[in-house]
Amino acid sequence: MAGQMAFPFAQPPPGRLMRAGGKSAASSLWPRVSRAVVRVPDPRHHPIDIDLPAGQPQIFVHEGARQALIRRLELAQKRPVLLSVTDNFRQMISSSLREGILQARVHHMFLDAPAVVQEALVRYVVNQDRAASLVVGQYIDENGHRIRASRPVSTPLTTQGKTHDLLSLFQKLNHAYFNGAVDALITWGKRTRARKARRTIKLGSYSAIERLIRIHPVLDLPWVPRYFISYVIYHEMLHHVMPASHGNGRRMLHPPQFLARERLFRDYERALAWETAHVGRLLRT
Ligand SMILES: [Zn+2]
Repeated sequence: MAGQMAFPFAQPPPGRLMRAGGKSAASSLWPRVSRAVVRVPDPRHHPIDIDLPAGQPQIFVHEGARQALIRRLELAQKRPVLLSVTDNFRQMISSSLREGILQARVHHMFLDAPAVVQEALVRYVVNQDRAASLVVGQYIDENGHRIRASRPVSTPLTTQGKTHDLLSLFQKLNHAYFNGAVDALITWGKRTRARKARRTIKLGSYSAIERLIRIHPVLDLPWVPRYFISYVIYHEMLHHVMPASHGNGRRMLHPPQFLARERLFRDYERALAWETAHVGRLLRT
């Protein structure tokens, strides 16, 4: 039983692992890391300079949880086990046997997985058990929101505008509506000069592969109220926590549960009314 194995067996199509699974939208308030892992904070989200180790993985692992998983593996494998916990975005599980020692690498989402999933993980690593691989695969699908961005953001982020500070609005929303669980990044979009009057304007966007929310710089004006920018940010934060659903084979960006949750925003009606009244002025700006 030497050699290597890896989960997933085949390379997934691009973006497959970014999907957090339509069914698990209700649980998508879970933080993106396991409870047994602490993610090294992104320096761009940190007001003060802190010295943290560079390179991957950018996580601190709860040693007790790691040891517990090692014990499960050793009991089943009846040989010593070396276990690394990863923050990979493609390879969720891999293992190999070297000089009688099982060397396993698993994504941190497995550290606090339910017992049945951990048991399946062990059976999968030890016996390449087919049924176990289904349980493990489903767990990975449902926990896509714990996998880090597949493409690091390369452009510098600007959150402090001339009038509005996106980061402080983002943090207030994160605290008020998401238990602080949203670890997306945010930035003002690039300023482009419109040659002709605009006919449409995209006030906010969310890039899942970068985990980045972009807000149109046209909103960085004194006459744009804070509650309206907050509404735009809140909408994009919902895209971060509620992946597009695939009901009836069609991709729905704003499924009913998304819209229901959007209405929970405190100034929802007020923001919509402001948008209706001012969209013309925004288009001319
Ligand atoms: Zn949207």
